[in-house]
Amino acid sequence: MSEILLNVADIRHHSHVNGPGVRSVVWVQGCRRRCPGCINPHTHAHEPVKLLDPQQLGRQLAEVRDTVGITLSGGEPFEQAEACAILAETVKKAGKTVMVFTGFSLDEIRACDEPAVQRFLRATDLIVAGPYVQELKCESKMWRASSNQTVHFLNGSEVTEDELLDTPVIEVQADGGTLSYTGFPDPEDLTWFDRLGSCWHERNRIS
Ligand code: SF4
Repeated sequence: MSEILLNVADIRHHSHVNGPGVRSVVWVQGCRRRCPGCINPHTHAHEPVKLLDPQQLGRQLAEVRDTVGITLSGGEPFEQAEACAILAETVKKAGKTVMVFTGFSLDEIRACDEPAVQRFLRATDLIVAGPYVQELKCESKMWRASSNQTVHFLNGSEVTEDELLDTPVIEVQADGGTLSYTGFPDPEDLTWFDRLGSCWHERNRIS
């Protein structure tokens, strides 16, 4: 059991749009950056949502069948570097991979002298780095929400623009009475999701 807790906004299993292969996604809670147009504004506040033991969570996620690894998104994972490092190390020890979405650039992360940040980076296999910039939004480049963001496989090779395939990049999930989505839609054009949500509510008589 770890003494450090990870503040988690949400968790989803078996996502196909948050990195290569089928992955569990952990959205951490808390982000100081507040990029205009961020698709996850509910994850910005630094308030406890689910406080979880990162080692225990890592073991649970590593056991999820038919997944190749986890993706940490947010919120800002590097604001909880120590807890994320413990989670990432636990998942990697079990033979699975770790991908991270961060608002920091890779240079900023590498230059940071906080040991927990470097520990977390060492346990990361793939990173999508840089803040969301509304004016540079791109809707169909896999894993990036705006074109300033960069994708790095931390085994040495950086993915080039041409290698980022255009693919369907949104998943809608119906879970009991809740309809949610993840992926990379145009955050300014989600009226279709609202319409879908109204039909869903009507069909399921949810008030
Ligand atoms: S860094 Fe990410 S989570 Fe934070 S505001 Fe920007 S897009 Fe949203």
